Amino acid sequence: HCGFIAIVGRPNVGKSTLLNRLVGQKLSITSRKPQTTRHRIMGVDTRDGYQAVYVDTPGLHIEEKRTINRLMNRAASSSLTDVELVLFLVDGTQWTPDDEMVLNKLAKTGLPVVLLVNKIDNVKMKYDLFPHIQELSEKMDFKAIVPVSAKHGGGVDVVEQIVRESL
Ligand code: GDP
Ligand code: MG
Repeated sequence: HCGFIAIVGRPNVGKSTLLNRLVGQKLSITSRKPQTTRHRIMGVDTRDGYQAVYVDTPGLHIEEKRTINRLMNRAASSSLTDVELVLFLVDGTQWTPDDEMVLNKLAKTGLPVVLLVNKIDNVKMKYDLFPHIQELSEKMDFKAIVPVSAKHGGGVDVVEQIVRESL
């Protein structure tokens, strides 16, 4: 029961904050070299019965400003079969064309994707959120849709349960 879990999303949706929640003090491996391997290992959560390796998968990124990144992205798409599950993180307060781009890339992979709607602690957002979710779930068959607060920890236990079940 060990495998790669990709955390995917445009910049600023809360990926790093979520990772800290998921691995916290249990963080045992980090890689400071982003594009030297097919996956950049972000953190490892080792528990009784399972080990989740959280990775950053370049092929699923929209941060393609540099040519080298674009080239690596092409290479990375061949490695997607290594991923057991994708955590697609969005900011519940703000849906952008970049999110759309990530969604379209994910749809092509055929991987199981869990939509994590982050920043639910921001009350103002809740009213904007639900029509979007409806729209998103029509575009893609998510394994689950989980509202979370990476910052305060809400819903993270649900995410961990889903991860455990997928390994
Ligand atoms: P990344 O670029 O996807 O890695 O995003 P970060 O983890 O760096 O977070 C971007 C910003 O969003 C930071 O200012 C975080 O404090 C904030 N943020 C992340 N998660 C939450 C959340 O659950 N609630 C709120 N209100 N802010 C959050
Ligand atoms: Mg980050």
